[in-house]
Amino acid sequence: MKNQVQLITYADRLGGAGFDVLERLLLGPLQGLFGGVHILPFFHPIDGADAGFDPIDHTMVDPRLGSWSAVQSLSRHLDIMADLIVNHISTESARFQDFSEKGTDSPYAGLFLTLGSVFPHGAGEADLLKIYRPRPGLPFTAVTLKNGEKRILWTTFTSRQVDIDVRHPQGVAYLHAILDTFQAHGITMIRLDAVGYAIKQPGTSCFMLPETFDFIEELPRYAKTVGIEVLVEIHSYYRQQIEIARRVDRVYDFALPPLILHACFNRTARYLQQWLALSPRNAITVLDTHDGIGVIDIGADSANPVAGAGLIPPEDLDALVETIHIKSGGQSRQATGAAASNLDLYQVNCTYYDALGRNDRDYLLARAIQFFAPGIPQVYYVGLLAGTNDMQLLAETQVGRDINRPTYTPADIAVALQRPVVQDLLALIRFRNSHPAFNGSFTLLDTDDHTLGLRWEQGSDWTQLRVNFSDGSYELSYTADGRVQHFDLPARSGRKMG
Ligand code: BGC
Repeated sequence: MKNQVQLITYADRLGGAGFDVLERLLLGPLQGLFGGVHILPFFHPIDGADAGFDPIDHTMVDPRLGSWSAVQSLSRHLDIMADLIVNHISTESARFQDFSEKGTDSPYAGLFLTLGSVFPHGAGEADLLKIYRPRPGLPFTAVTLKNGEKRILWTTFTSRQVDIDVRHPQGVAYLHAILDTFQAHGITMIRLDAVGYAIKQPGTSCFMLPETFDFIEELPRYAKTVGIEVLVEIHSYYRQQIEIARRVDRVYDFALPPLILHACFNRTARYLQQWLALSPRNAITVLDTHDGIGVIDIGADSANPVAGAGLIPPEDLDALVETIHIKSGGQSRQATGAAASNLDLYQVNCTYYDALGRNDRDYLLARAIQFFAPGIPQVYYVGLLAGTNDMQLLAETQVGRDINRPTYTPADIAVALQRPVVQDLLALIRFRNSHPAFNGSFTLLDTDDHTLGLRWEQGSDWTQLRVNFSDGSYELSYTADGRVQHFDLPARSGRKMG
Protein backbone atom coordinates (compact mmCIF):
# COMPACT_ATOMS: atom_id res chain seq x y z
CA MET A 1 0.00 0.00 0.00
CA LYS A 2 1.40 3.39 -0.94
CA ASN A 3 2.08 5.69 1.98
CA GLN A 4 -0.27 8.31 0.56
CA VAL A 5 -3.70 9.60 1.43
CA GLN A 6 -6.61 7.52 0.09
CA LEU A 7 -10.13 8.63 -0.75
CA ILE A 8 -13.22 6.76 0.46
CA THR A 9 -16.18 7.22 -1.85
CA TYR A 10 -19.24 5.71 -3.46
CA ALA A 11 -19.09 5.36 -7.22
CA ASP A 12 -22.41 7.17 -7.63
CA ARG A 13 -22.45 10.03 -5.14
CA LEU A 14 -19.48 12.16 -6.11
CA GLY A 15 -20.19 14.02 -9.30
CA GLY A 16 -22.40 11.43 -10.99
CA ALA A 17 -22.76 7.68 -11.31
CA GLY A 18 -20.12 5.44 -12.80
CA PHE A 19 -16.50 4.48 -12.77
CA ASP A 20 -15.82 6.66 -15.80
CA VAL A 21 -17.15 9.71 -13.90
CA LEU A 22 -15.01 8.85 -10.90
CA GLU A 23 -11.96 8.33 -13.06
CA ARG A 24 -12.41 11.72 -14.74
CA LEU A 25 -12.76 13.38 -11.34
CA LEU A 26 -9.72 11.67 -9.84
CA LEU A 27 -7.60 12.41 -12.89
CA GLY A 28 -9.08 15.89 -13.28
CA PRO A 29 -9.95 18.23 -10.40
CA LEU A 30 -8.62 15.79 -7.78
CA GLN A 31 -5.48 14.89 -9.73
CA GLY A 32 -2.47 14.00 -7.61
CA LEU A 33 -4.31 14.03 -4.29
CA PHE A 34 -4.76 10.33 -3.65
CA GLY A 35 -2.57 7.26 -3.85
CA GLY A 36 -5.58 4.97 -3.60
CA VAL A 37 -9.34 4.90 -3.39
CA HIS A 38 -11.67 2.77 -1.32
CA ILE A 39 -14.74 2.44 -3.46
CA LEU A 40 -17.70 1.49 -1.30
CA PRO A 41 -19.70 -1.56 -2.50
CA PHE A 42 -20.18 -1.30 -6.24
CA PHE A 43 -21.61 -4.76 -6.73
CA HIS A 44 -25.05 -5.74 -7.95
CA PRO A 45 -27.02 -3.99 -6.52
CA ILE A 46 -25.75 -0.75 -4.94
CA ASP A 47 -29.16 0.17 -3.52
CA GLY A 48 -30.42 -2.86 -1.64
CA ALA A 49 -31.17 -3.08 2.07
CA ASP A 50 -27.76 -1.84 3.25
CA ALA A 51 -26.34 0.50 0.58
CA GLY A 52 -24.50 -2.25 -1.28
CA PHE A 53 -23.45 -4.27 1.78
CA ASP A 54 -26.05 -6.86 0.80
CA PRO A 55 -24.82 -8.14 -2.55
CA ILE A 56 -27.01 -10.29 -4.76
CA ASP A 57 -23.94 -10.94 -6.90
CA HIS A 58 -20.66 -9.96 -5.27
CA THR A 59 -18.74 -10.73 -8.47
CA MET A 60 -20.78 -8.45 -10.71
CA VAL A 61 -20.37 -4.69 -11.04
CA ASP A 62 -23.73 -2.91 -10.80
CA PRO A 63 -24.38 -2.09 -14.47
CA ARG A 64 -25.41 1.45 -13.52
CA LEU A 65 -21.76 2.06 -12.61
CA GLY A 66 -20.08 0.36 -15.56
CA SER A 67 -18.28 -2.93 -15.82
CA TRP A 68 -15.17 -4.67 -14.56
CA SER A 69 -13.18 -3.16 -17.41
CA ALA A 70 -14.02 0.32 -16.07
CA VAL A 71 -12.79 -0.77 -12.63
CA GLN A 72 -9.62 -2.08 -14.23
CA SER A 73 -9.13 1.15 -16.13
CA LEU A 74 -9.20 3.15 -12.88
CA SER A 75 -6.83 0.66 -11.25
CA ARG A 76 -4.16 1.66 -13.79
CA HIS A 77 -4.00 5.09 -12.15
CA LEU A 78 -4.82 4.46 -8.49
CA ASP A 79 -4.73 1.56 -6.06
CA ILE A 80 -8.26 0.33 -5.51
CA MET A 81 -9.68 -1.03 -2.28
CA ALA A 82 -12.93 -2.99 -2.45
CA ASP A 83 -15.11 -4.47 0.24
CA LEU A 84 -15.15 -8.19 0.79
CA ILE A 85 -18.47 -8.71 2.51
CA VAL A 86 -17.68 -11.90 4.37
CA ASN A 87 -20.46 -12.18 6.88
CA HIS A 88 -23.59 -12.23 4.76
CA ILE A 89 -25.21 -12.19 1.35
CA SER A 90 -28.57 -10.96 0.07
CA THR A 91 -31.56 -13.26 0.48
CA GLU A 92 -32.21 -12.43 -3.19
CA SER A 93 -28.92 -13.99 -4.29
CA ALA A 94 -29.08 -16.97 -6.67
CA ARG A 95 -27.51 -19.21 -4.04
CA PHE A 96 -30.07 -18.37 -1.39
CA GLN A 97 -32.90 -18.68 -3.89
CA ASP A 98 -31.65 -22.14 -4.81
CA PHE A 99 -31.60 -23.08 -1.14
CA SER A 100 -35.08 -21.62 -0.74
CA GLU A 101 -36.39 -23.81 -3.56
CA LYS A 102 -34.58 -27.04 -2.79
CA GLY A 103 -33.96 -26.84 0.96
CA THR A 104 -31.43 -29.41 2.15
CA ASP A 105 -31.15 -30.78 -1.42
CA SER A 106 -29.57 -27.51 -2.54
CA PRO A 107 -25.79 -27.64 -3.00
CA TYR A 108 -25.78 -24.33 -1.10
CA ALA A 109 -27.70 -25.61 1.93
CA GLY A 110 -24.54 -25.60 4.04
CA LEU A 111 -23.67 -22.04 3.05
CA PHE A 112 -26.39 -20.38 5.10
CA LEU A 113 -26.45 -20.11 8.85
CA THR A 114 -29.66 -20.85 10.67
CA LEU A 115 -30.44 -21.07 14.34
CA GLY A 116 -30.45 -24.85 13.98
CA SER A 117 -27.17 -25.11 12.10
CA VAL A 118 -25.30 -23.18 14.80
CA PHE A 119 -27.20 -24.77 17.71
CA PRO A 120 -27.84 -28.36 16.53
CA HIS A 121 -28.84 -29.36 20.08
CA GLY A 122 -31.12 -26.37 20.59
CA ALA A 123 -30.44 -22.99 22.15
CA GLY A 124 -31.43 -22.02 25.68
CA GLU A 125 -32.26 -18.54 26.91
CA ALA A 126 -28.75 -18.12 28.36
CA ASP A 127 -27.18 -19.04 24.99
CA LEU A 128 -29.27 -16.51 23.13
CA LEU A 129 -28.64 -13.75 25.65
CA LYS A 130 -24.89 -14.16 25.19
CA ILE A 131 -24.96 -13.32 21.48
CA TYR A 132 -23.44 -9.91 20.81
CA ARG A 133 -25.09 -7.55 18.39
CA PRO A 134 -24.62 -3.79 18.00
CA ARG A 135 -28.25 -3.19 18.95
CA PRO A 136 -30.90 -4.86 21.08
CA GLY A 137 -32.71 -7.90 19.72
CA LEU A 138 -31.67 -11.24 18.37
CA PRO A 139 -29.95 -11.85 15.05
CA PHE A 140 -32.66 -14.12 13.68
CA THR A 141 -35.36 -13.94 11.02
CA ALA A 142 -38.08 -16.56 10.71
CA VAL A 143 -38.86 -17.34 7.06
CA THR A 144 -40.86 -19.75 4.98
CA LEU A 145 -38.69 -21.03 2.17
CA LYS A 146 -40.12 -21.43 -1.33
CA ASN A 147 -40.36 -25.17 -0.72
CA GLY A 148 -42.67 -24.49 2.21
CA GLU A 149 -40.15 -25.28 4.92
CA LYS A 150 -40.01 -22.88 7.87
CA ARG A 151 -36.51 -21.89 8.99
CA ILE A 152 -34.90 -19.37 11.32
CA LEU A 153 -32.10 -17.58 9.45
CA TRP A 154 -29.12 -16.02 11.17
CA THR A 155 -29.28 -12.36 10.17
CA THR A 156 -26.82 -10.18 12.11
CA PHE A 157 -27.70 -7.02 10.18
CA THR A 158 -31.00 -6.63 8.30
CA SER A 159 -33.46 -9.46 7.70
CA ARG A 160 -32.46 -9.36 4.02
CA GLN A 161 -28.79 -10.12 4.76
CA VAL A 162 -28.41 -13.82 5.58
CA ASP A 163 -25.20 -14.82 7.35
CA ILE A 164 -22.97 -17.36 5.68
CA ASP A 165 -20.86 -20.17 7.08
CA VAL A 166 -17.40 -18.97 6.14
CA ARG A 167 -15.85 -22.28 7.16
CA HIS A 168 -18.12 -24.48 5.04
CA PRO A 169 -16.49 -25.55 1.73
CA GLN A 170 -19.21 -23.57 -0.08
CA GLY A 171 -18.36 -20.50 2.02
CA VAL A 172 -14.64 -20.84 1.32
CA ALA A 173 -15.30 -21.31 -2.41
CA TYR A 174 -17.62 -18.30 -2.44
CA LEU A 175 -15.07 -15.98 -0.80
CA HIS A 176 -12.14 -17.23 -2.88
CA ALA A 177 -14.11 -16.74 -6.09
CA ILE A 178 -14.71 -13.10 -5.16
CA LEU A 179 -11.02 -12.58 -4.41
CA ASP A 180 -10.09 -14.17 -7.75
CA THR A 181 -12.48 -11.81 -9.55
CA PHE A 182 -11.01 -8.83 -7.71
CA GLN A 183 -7.49 -9.89 -8.56
CA ALA A 184 -8.34 -10.33 -12.23
CA HIS A 185 -9.58 -6.74 -12.39
CA GLY A 186 -6.82 -4.81 -10.70
CA ILE A 187 -8.02 -4.64 -7.09
CA THR A 188 -5.04 -4.76 -4.76
CA MET A 189 -6.61 -4.05 -1.37
CA ILE A 190 -9.69 -5.37 0.38
CA ARG A 191 -11.61 -4.29 3.41
CA LEU A 192 -12.86 -7.31 5.35
CA ASP A 193 -16.30 -6.02 6.19
CA ALA A 194 -17.88 -6.76 9.58
CA VAL A 195 -15.56 -9.73 10.04
CA GLY A 196 -15.93 -9.71 13.85
CA TYR A 197 -19.30 -11.44 13.42
CA ALA A 198 -18.11 -14.08 10.95
CA ILE A 199 -17.73 -17.05 13.28
CA LYS A 200 -20.56 -18.40 15.42
CA GLN A 201 -20.11 -20.94 18.21
CA PRO A 202 -22.87 -22.16 20.51
CA GLY A 203 -22.68 -20.78 24.03
CA THR A 204 -20.49 -17.79 23.13
CA SER A 205 -20.99 -14.13 22.21
CA CYS A 206 -20.47 -15.15 18.54
CA PHE A 207 -18.30 -12.04 18.20
CA MET A 208 -14.51 -11.90 18.03
CA LEU A 209 -13.94 -15.45 19.24
CA PRO A 210 -10.49 -17.11 19.15
CA GLU A 211 -11.77 -18.85 15.98
CA THR A 212 -12.57 -15.43 14.49
CA PHE A 213 -8.94 -14.43 15.00
CA ASP A 214 -7.93 -17.64 13.20
CA PHE A 215 -10.25 -16.81 10.31
CA ILE A 216 -8.88 -13.27 10.18
CA GLU A 217 -5.43 -14.80 9.71
CA GLU A 218 -6.49 -17.53 7.29
CA LEU A 219 -8.39 -15.56 4.67
CA PRO A 220 -5.60 -12.99 4.15
CA ARG A 221 -3.24 -15.90 3.47
CA TYR A 222 -5.28 -16.68 0.38
CA ALA A 223 -5.60 -12.98 -0.46
CA LYS A 224 -1.83 -12.68 -0.32
CA THR A 225 -1.42 -15.47 -2.88
CA VAL A 226 -3.43 -13.35 -5.31
CA GLY A 227 -1.50 -10.17 -4.42
CA ILE A 228 -4.20 -8.50 -2.30
CA GLU A 229 -3.57 -6.64 0.97
CA VAL A 230 -6.17 -6.83 3.71
CA LEU A 231 -7.70 -4.17 5.94
CA VAL A 232 -9.79 -5.60 8.78
CA GLU A 233 -12.94 -3.73 9.74
CA ILE A 234 -14.04 -4.28 13.32
CA HIS A 235 -15.48 -1.88 15.83
CA SER A 236 -14.49 -3.26 19.21
CA TYR A 237 -12.61 -2.73 22.44
CA TYR A 238 -9.26 -1.10 21.75
CA ARG A 239 -7.17 -3.94 23.16
CA GLN A 240 -8.84 -6.30 20.72
CA GLN A 241 -7.85 -3.99 17.87
CA ILE A 242 -4.25 -4.05 19.06
CA GLU A 243 -4.38 -7.85 19.15
CA ILE A 244 -5.86 -8.03 15.64
CA ALA A 245 -3.25 -5.60 14.34
CA ARG A 246 -0.51 -8.05 15.28
CA ARG A 247 -1.97 -10.65 12.95
CA VAL A 248 -3.03 -8.74 9.84
CA ASP A 249 -1.79 -6.30 7.22
CA ARG A 250 -3.91 -3.36 8.36
CA VAL A 251 -6.58 -2.40 10.91
CA TYR A 252 -8.59 0.78 11.19
CA ASP A 253 -7.72 3.20 13.94
CA PHE A 254 -11.35 3.81 14.89
CA ALA A 255 -10.33 5.25 18.27
CA LEU A 256 -8.78 8.32 16.69
CA PRO A 257 -11.94 10.13 15.47
CA PRO A 258 -13.77 10.19 18.84
CA LEU A 259 -10.53 10.87 20.75
CA ILE A 260 -9.74 13.92 18.62
CA LEU A 261 -13.26 15.22 19.24
CA HIS A 262 -12.84 14.55 22.95
CA ALA A 263 -9.52 16.44 22.96
CA CYS A 264 -11.06 19.46 21.21
CA PHE A 265 -14.17 19.52 23.41
CA ASN A 266 -12.32 18.99 26.70
CA ARG A 267 -9.12 20.88 25.89
CA THR A 268 -6.90 18.00 26.86
CA ALA A 269 -4.34 15.99 24.94
CA ARG A 270 -4.01 13.36 27.63
CA TYR A 271 -6.11 10.54 26.17
CA LEU A 272 -4.87 11.09 22.64
CA GLN A 273 -1.31 10.87 23.94
CA GLN A 274 -2.07 7.63 25.79
CA TRP A 275 -3.67 6.12 22.71
CA LEU A 276 -1.03 7.19 20.22
CA ALA A 277 1.64 5.70 22.47
CA LEU A 278 0.14 2.25 21.86
CA SER A 279 -2.02 2.52 18.73
CA PRO A 280 -1.27 0.02 15.94
CA ARG A 281 1.40 1.32 13.60
CA ASN A 282 -0.10 -0.66 10.71
CA ALA A 283 -3.32 1.33 10.87
CA ILE A 284 -5.55 2.96 8.33
CA THR A 285 -6.58 6.23 9.96
CA VAL A 286 -9.96 7.84 9.39
CA LEU A 287 -11.99 10.67 10.87
CA ASP A 288 -15.11 9.80 8.90
CA THR A 289 -16.48 6.92 6.88
CA HIS A 290 -19.85 5.91 5.42
CA ASP A 291 -20.78 4.68 8.93
CA GLY A 292 -21.10 6.79 12.06
CA ILE A 293 -18.45 7.93 14.51
CA GLY A 294 -17.82 4.86 16.68
CA VAL A 295 -17.88 5.17 20.42
CA ILE A 296 -17.43 1.57 21.53
CA ASP A 297 -13.91 1.85 20.10
CA ILE A 298 -12.89 4.05 23.05
CA GLY A 299 -15.28 2.59 25.63
CA ALA A 300 -14.84 -0.19 28.17
CA ASP A 301 -14.67 -3.86 27.21
CA SER A 302 -18.33 -4.91 26.95
CA ALA A 303 -17.38 -8.44 28.04
CA ASN A 304 -15.65 -7.17 31.17
CA PRO A 305 -16.28 -3.47 31.85
CA VAL A 306 -14.62 -3.51 35.29
CA ALA A 307 -11.24 -4.96 34.34
CA GLY A 308 -11.32 -3.60 30.80
CA ALA A 309 -11.42 0.16 31.18
CA GLY A 310 -11.86 2.23 28.05
CA LEU A 311 -9.62 4.94 26.65
CA ILE A 312 -11.59 7.74 28.30
CA PRO A 313 -13.52 7.79 31.60
CA PRO A 314 -17.05 6.31 31.21
CA GLU A 315 -18.77 9.59 32.13
CA ASP A 316 -16.81 11.35 29.37
CA LEU A 317 -18.25 8.98 26.79
CA ASP A 318 -21.83 10.14 27.28
CA ALA A 319 -20.70 13.75 27.43
CA LEU A 320 -18.82 13.30 24.15
CA VAL A 321 -21.93 12.05 22.35
CA GLU A 322 -24.00 14.85 23.86
CA THR A 323 -21.47 17.49 22.80
CA ILE A 324 -21.55 16.23 19.20
CA HIS A 325 -25.34 16.63 19.29
CA ILE A 326 -24.99 20.17 20.62
CA LYS A 327 -22.22 21.15 18.17
CA SER A 328 -24.30 19.88 15.27
CA GLY A 329 -27.29 21.92 16.40
CA GLY A 330 -29.21 18.78 17.33
CA GLN A 331 -28.93 17.25 13.85
CA SER A 332 -26.90 14.20 14.85
CA ARG A 333 -29.43 13.42 17.58
CA GLN A 334 -32.07 12.93 14.88
CA ALA A 335 -29.86 10.43 13.05
CA THR A 336 -28.37 8.47 15.92
CA GLY A 337 -29.30 5.49 18.06
CA ALA A 338 -32.93 4.49 18.14
CA ALA A 339 -33.94 7.77 16.43
CA ALA A 340 -33.45 6.36 12.93
CA SER A 341 -33.26 2.82 11.59
CA ASN A 342 -29.69 2.18 12.65
CA LEU A 343 -27.87 -1.11 12.41
CA ASP A 344 -25.36 0.06 14.99
CA LEU A 345 -26.67 2.02 17.93
CA TYR A 346 -23.19 2.82 19.15
CA GLN A 347 -22.22 5.11 16.32
CA VAL A 348 -23.00 8.79 16.13
CA ASN A 349 -24.25 9.78 12.72
CA CYS A 350 -22.96 13.21 11.78
CA THR A 351 -20.43 14.65 9.37
CA TYR A 352 -17.10 15.24 11.09
CA TYR A 353 -17.20 18.89 10.10
CA ASP A 354 -20.58 19.30 11.81
CA ALA A 355 -19.38 17.34 14.85
CA LEU A 356 -16.79 20.10 15.25
CA GLY A 357 -19.45 22.78 14.94
CA ARG A 358 -18.28 23.71 11.41
CA ASN A 359 -15.16 25.29 12.87
CA ASP A 360 -12.63 25.40 10.01
CA ARG A 361 -9.61 25.72 12.24
CA ASP A 362 -10.52 22.79 14.50
CA TYR A 363 -11.40 20.74 11.42
CA LEU A 364 -8.03 21.34 9.79
CA LEU A 365 -6.18 20.65 13.02
CA ALA A 366 -8.14 17.39 13.36
CA ARG A 367 -7.06 16.43 9.83
CA ALA A 368 -3.46 17.41 10.58
CA ILE A 369 -3.49 15.16 13.66
CA GLN A 370 -4.94 12.35 11.55
CA PHE A 371 -2.24 12.78 8.91
CA PHE A 372 0.51 12.79 11.57
CA ALA A 373 -0.88 9.78 13.47
CA PRO A 374 0.75 6.43 12.64
CA GLY A 375 -0.88 4.78 9.63
CA ILE A 376 -2.14 5.54 6.16
CA PRO A 377 -4.86 8.20 6.13
CA GLN A 378 -8.18 7.83 4.37
CA VAL A 379 -10.48 10.79 3.76
CA TYR A 380 -14.18 10.22 3.15
CA TYR A 381 -15.60 12.15 0.21
CA VAL A 382 -17.87 14.23 2.50
CA GLY A 383 -14.92 15.09 4.72
CA LEU A 384 -12.85 16.03 1.67
CA LEU A 385 -15.40 18.71 0.88
CA ALA A 386 -15.90 19.66 4.59
CA GLY A 387 -19.51 18.62 4.00
CA THR A 388 -22.44 19.31 6.26
CA ASN A 389 -25.26 17.03 7.36
CA ASP A 390 -27.72 16.07 4.66
CA MET A 391 -30.95 16.58 6.60
CA GLN A 392 -33.04 16.33 3.46
CA LEU A 393 -31.78 12.86 2.61
CA LEU A 394 -32.25 11.81 6.24
CA ALA A 395 -35.86 13.04 6.14
CA GLU A 396 -36.48 11.18 2.89
CA THR A 397 -35.03 7.82 3.88
CA GLN A 398 -35.15 7.87 7.69
CA VAL A 399 -31.83 6.01 7.57
CA GLY A 400 -29.53 7.55 10.19
CA ARG A 401 -26.29 7.04 8.26
CA ASP A 402 -27.71 8.86 5.24
CA ILE A 403 -27.07 12.13 7.09
CA ASN A 404 -23.45 11.62 6.01
CA ARG A 405 -24.02 10.04 2.57
CA PRO A 406 -25.02 12.94 0.32
CA THR A 407 -24.85 13.03 -3.45
CA TYR A 408 -22.75 15.86 -4.86
CA THR A 409 -23.29 17.16 -8.37
CA PRO A 410 -20.29 18.33 -10.41
CA ALA A 411 -21.40 21.92 -9.65
CA ASP A 412 -21.48 21.18 -5.88
CA ILE A 413 -17.95 19.80 -6.12
CA ALA A 414 -16.68 22.80 -8.07
CA VAL A 415 -18.11 25.20 -5.47
CA ALA A 416 -16.83 23.15 -2.53
CA LEU A 417 -13.32 22.96 -3.97
CA GLN A 418 -13.12 26.76 -3.88
CA ARG A 419 -13.91 27.01 -0.17
CA PRO A 420 -10.84 28.08 1.85
CA VAL A 421 -11.21 25.19 4.30
CA VAL A 422 -11.21 22.70 1.42
CA GLN A 423 -8.28 24.40 -0.31
CA ASP A 424 -6.33 24.20 2.94
CA LEU A 425 -7.23 20.54 3.34
CA LEU A 426 -6.03 19.80 -0.19
CA ALA A 427 -2.74 21.54 0.61
CA LEU A 428 -2.43 19.46 3.75
CA ILE A 429 -3.09 16.25 1.78
CA ARG A 430 -0.40 17.19 -0.72
CA PHE A 431 2.00 17.91 2.12
CA ARG A 432 1.25 14.50 3.75
CA ASN A 433 1.82 12.76 0.41
CA SER A 434 5.06 14.47 -0.43
CA HIS A 435 7.14 15.22 2.66
CA PRO A 436 9.84 12.52 2.90
CA ALA A 437 9.81 12.40 6.71
CA PHE A 438 6.46 10.53 6.66
CA ASN A 439 8.35 7.53 5.28
CA GLY A 440 10.66 7.55 8.29
CA SER A 441 10.08 7.00 11.99
CA PHE A 442 7.38 8.34 14.27
CA THR A 443 7.87 9.86 17.72
CA LEU A 444 5.26 10.93 20.20
CA LEU A 445 6.85 13.99 21.78
CA ASP A 446 7.07 14.31 25.53
CA THR A 447 4.68 17.16 26.30
CA ASP A 448 2.33 18.35 29.03
CA ASP A 449 -1.31 17.21 29.31
CA HIS A 450 -2.55 20.02 27.11
CA THR A 451 -0.22 19.54 24.20
CA LEU A 452 0.02 16.84 21.61
CA GLY A 453 3.35 16.59 19.82
CA LEU A 454 3.84 14.31 16.83
CA ARG A 455 7.06 14.05 14.86
CA TRP A 456 8.30 12.17 11.82
CA GLU A 457 11.85 12.02 10.64
CA GLN A 458 13.91 10.40 7.98
CA GLY A 459 17.59 11.25 7.63
CA SER A 460 17.92 15.01 7.90
CA ASP A 461 14.25 15.57 7.01
CA TRP A 462 11.67 16.02 9.72
CA THR A 463 8.22 17.41 10.29
CA GLN A 464 6.51 18.12 13.54
CA LEU A 465 3.01 19.02 14.70
CA ARG A 466 2.32 20.49 18.12
CA VAL A 467 -1.23 21.30 19.14
CA ASN A 468 -2.04 22.97 22.43
CA PHE A 469 -5.67 22.13 23.17
CA SER A 470 -5.97 24.56 26.09
CA ASP A 471 -5.70 27.64 23.89
CA GLY A 472 -6.06 26.12 20.41
CA SER A 473 -2.60 27.18 19.29
CA TYR A 474 -0.50 24.96 17.05
CA GLU A 475 2.77 24.71 15.18
CA LEU A 476 3.33 22.64 12.08
CA SER A 477 6.94 22.83 11.01
CA TYR A 478 9.00 20.92 8.50
CA THR A 479 12.27 20.89 6.66
CA ALA A 480 12.47 21.89 3.01
CA ASP A 481 15.78 22.20 1.19
CA GLY A 482 17.60 22.16 4.53
CA ARG A 483 15.57 25.05 5.98
CA VAL A 484 12.78 25.01 8.56
CA GLN A 485 9.38 26.10 7.24
CA HIS A 486 5.95 26.54 8.82
CA PHE A 487 2.64 25.39 7.48
CA ASP A 488 -0.30 27.74 8.12
CA LEU A 489 -3.53 26.05 9.12
CA PRO A 490 -5.81 27.53 8.02
CA ALA A 491 -3.94 29.94 5.85
CA ARG A 492 -6.14 32.81 7.05
CA SER A 493 -7.17 32.47 10.68
CA GLY A 494 -4.66 30.24 12.44
CA ARG A 495 -3.44 31.10 15.89
CA LYS A 496 0.11 29.86 15.91
CA MET A 497 2.11 28.95 18.97
CA GLY A 498 4.25 31.79 20.24
C1 BGC B 1 -20.20 -1.68 7.10
C2 BGC B 1 -21.60 -1.19 7.29
C3 BGC B 1 -22.54 -2.35 7.01
C4 BGC B 1 -22.19 -3.57 7.85
C5 BGC B 1 -22.86 -4.80 7.34
C6 BGC B 1 -20.08 -2.72 8.16
O1 BGC B 1 -19.40 -2.67 9.21
O2 BGC B 1 -19.25 -0.69 7.23
O3 BGC B 1 -21.87 -0.11 6.46
O4 BGC B 1 -23.85 -1.96 7.30
O5 BGC B 1 -20.81 -3.84 7.82
O6 BGC B 1 -22.30 -5.19 6.12
